[in-house]
Amino acid sequence: MDSTVYVDNNATTAVAPEVVEAMLPFFHEHWGNPSSMHAFGGNVKRHIDDARDKVAALLGAAHPSEIIFTSCGSESNNMAIRGTVDAMGGHPHVITTRVEHAAVLGPCHHLEDRGYRLTTLEVDGRGGLDLDKVREASASGKKTVASVMWANNETGVIFPVETVGGLVKEGGGLFHTDAVQVAGKLPIAVQGMPVDLLSISGHKLHAPKGVGALYVRRGTKITPHILGGHQERGRRAGTENVPYIVGLGKACELAMRRMETDAANERRLRDRLEAGILATCKGARVNGDSANRLPNTSNISFEFVEGEAILLMLDDVGICASTGSACASGSLEPSHVLRAMDVPRSMIHGSIRFSLGRYNTDKDVDYVLEQMPRIIDRLRELSPFV
Ligand code: PLP
Repeated sequence: MDSTVYVDNNATTAVAPEVVEAMLPFFHEHWGNPSSMHAFGGNVKRHIDDARDKVAALLGAAHPSEIIFTSCGSESNNMAIRGTVDAMGGHPHVITTRVEHAAVLGPCHHLEDRGYRLTTLEVDGRGGLDLDKVREASASGKKTVASVMWANNETGVIFPVETVGGLVKEGGGLFHTDAVQVAGKLPIAVQGMPVDLLSISGHKLHAPKGVGALYVRRGTKITPHILGGHQERGRRAGTENVPYIVGLGKACELAMRRMETDAANERRLRDRLEAGILATCKGARVNGDSANRLPNTSNISFEFVEGEAILLMLDDVGICASTGSACASGSLEPSHVLRAMDVPRSMIHGSIRFSLGRYNTDKDVDYVLEQMPRIIDRLRELSPFV
């Protein structure tokens, strides 16, 4: 195979051709400043409004004004957590989980370092939450901001955010969910959910990198983190990134139209890939609750082999996947998500995440299935632990 087989869609997705097409006029035709008084600039504003409508529609928001455009999912998460904590005042109790993305754990630990009380909820071996612990933490009697992801980027495990949000709200707290891996993969109807804030990122749903959005339910107090101009109703200053916002709008429109077909295709391919690997590679097991996962994600551990070595060999044959582990300062640090799930020592270093996407085909799966057994056998031969 001389082209790349890309099965790393939770890391990023290809920009859809329809999205590129929608963006292009905003570089060389409609490049005015939407805040300008003249029509050349001012007319651009309605395209931002149109994109906002489309994002609001994908999320099922009651009103487009509940959508704030940001630069990425990380910014949305930071804004949600730090902005609400600041607006609430009086050092609220912050609640999160051990398996969040760094873009949630980072701001939570930042607050903890500054004296805020932080509760980090544990997960079980399948990556699930103990709802009694959520209830207990939410009923601490203090003002609370809780941030619990909707679906995990490494394992695809879905948290019952409806229930979690309900428990947080019962305790009188604010609830934020990181839905970066959910938008475009599962239906979202935020208006009817006990969710005050919700983050998404453009590049996970076929828009470009460098654009995201934060849903903020009407009436939720949030302190802006970029001060200056009046853009985004004064909630995020800075001249709007018009082409990218238009691209995000288009990607959301496409996602609404294609979600069902895309998800069904990704699920079929993922299941075929996973079953094939489990059948042909010895010592392989799926990490996380396989019945309660995103349709596109499969995180598989291979006993006594290093995930990084698998990735390098996959890369050599043109396959892009990723590993839960990251190589930090020369030592191989296992993934914080798999550690939280108590994945056994012999398995934790050998995990690979395959994440399927809109443009994957059966041919891609065939090719990965052809390569994997050879790679695992070869690495097992070299492993000092076998
Ligand atoms: N949250 C989750 C669950 C993610 O998977 C990611 C990206 O991998 C982010 C947040 C950060 O998004 P961005 O890359 O747009 O900053």
